[in-house]
Amino acid sequence: MSNMKLGYDLVVVGAGIIGLATAWTARQRGMRVAVVERNAKAIGASVRNFGFITVTGQRRGEHWRRAQETAAIWREVASQAGIDVIHEGLHVLAQRPEAVAVLEAFMATEMGEDCRWLDTKQAQRDWPWLQRGMALLHSPHECRVESRDAIPRLSHWLEHSMGVDFYWNTAVTSVHLPQISTSRGSLRAEHCVVCPGNDLNALFPNWLAQAGIRQCTLQMMRVAPGQALTLPSAFMSDLSLVRYEGYADLPEAAALKARLQAEQAAHLEEGIHLIVVQSADGSMVVGDSHVYGAAEQPFASAATEDLIMDEFHQVFNLPKARVTERWVGSYASADDVVYKAQPSLGVALGVITGGTGASTSFAFARELLDLATTV
Ligand SMILES: Cc1cc2nc3c(=O)[nH]c(=O)nc-3n(C[C@H](O)[C@H](O)[C@H](O)COP(=O)(O)OP(=O)(O)OC[C@H]3O[C@@H](n4cnc5c(N)ncnc54)[C@H](O)[C@@H]3O)c2cc1C
Repeated sequence: MSNMKLGYDLVVVGAGIIGLATAWTARQRGMRVAVVERNAKAIGASVRNFGFITVTGQRRGEHWRRAQETAAIWREVASQAGIDVIHEGLHVLAQRPEAVAVLEAFMATEMGEDCRWLDTKQAQRDWPWLQRGMALLHSPHECRVESRDAIPRLSHWLEHSMGVDFYWNTAVTSVHLPQISTSRGSLRAEHCVVCPGNDLNALFPNWLAQAGIRQCTLQMMRVAPGQALTLPSAFMSDLSLVRYEGYADLPEAAALKARLQAEQAAHLEEGIHLIVVQSADGSMVVGDSHVYGAAEQPFASAATEDLIMDEFHQVFNLPKARVTERWVGSYASADDVVYKAQPSLGVALGVITGGTGASTSFAFARELLDLATTV
């Protein structure tokens, strides 16, 4: 293509959050950067998610530290790029003694730092829309952006204020440095970072297949609460404590899982847990479920939606709440939480395989760039 510039220090494949975070990191290092994206705009997991940048509950150790680093960078980048942080923090409402035990064990770890217990009776007086709980934990570490606005804003800012070139509607078909072939011509670059999200069949398919990566499909909803209310933060429930590894890997989670298996087997079967966040217009983004397979599930099930809303009503006393929008999203999933490889010198391939890319993107981008620039 005639309008393709030759000669970049780095070409990034994919304009999801991992690609955009990589482009930002590379510009911080003074590199000349281009991003190549198959679609006219980002339409993948990065715009379909909750925009919930979560630290609390991430897998203990390296991944938790990735999330800490990423949350700090998100706040910095958001303020520069004109992205609103819609709310901060997280509340976990525990409704079973086994769930309280998990949270107590969590608080005793380094991950509980700066988290605190709230008085549940006071919380119910302040927030009559909240159901009764046995314990309420607050974490200050999280923040939330409206992904469907934030991701386009981030790419716009990178292009217009940070000097990154974008090639939209352009699929990368092969990477043989210094040549990067696309559906619209070739680019030349010294380094390439491939951030394909859940596109497992275009570039380096054998590498991704060997890593055992598959698709995970999630159902999501937008809910009108039916009354005026302002959520003070994101909310999660007992089901999250057997799903998010920072809690679920604690020995105390076994008893909770057994109890939930007896009481909410259908929820566990569909991989359901509850995250609720709020948007600027007062509506709530509610999810989610997790179904694994070789391909994305195109269809949203009413039964699964009912189960998610059932858990919603366990936590929120909002009888007039109604679903106003539905969508599915899919991310690449594997046993480990991230996959990164160096298929050839100068090239890094990276996928967040634990469903936490919004929360760990900037730290992971730094790792990918280090890998691509390793000689
Ligand atoms: C419903 C849902 C809810 C989620 N909630 C959260 C959450 O609250 N918090 C959190 O941290 N994470 C969450 N996640 C996970 C998170 O959204 C993902 O981990 C993250 O968005 C992955 O980003 P990505 O850039 O790798 O992928 P994507 O956003 O899928 O972007 C990859 C891009 O690469 C492009 N591409 C691929 N191959 C090529 C090629 N050959 N040439 C050109 N372009 C190509 C694709 O078109 C795509 O735009 C959620 C995911 C889903 C689906």
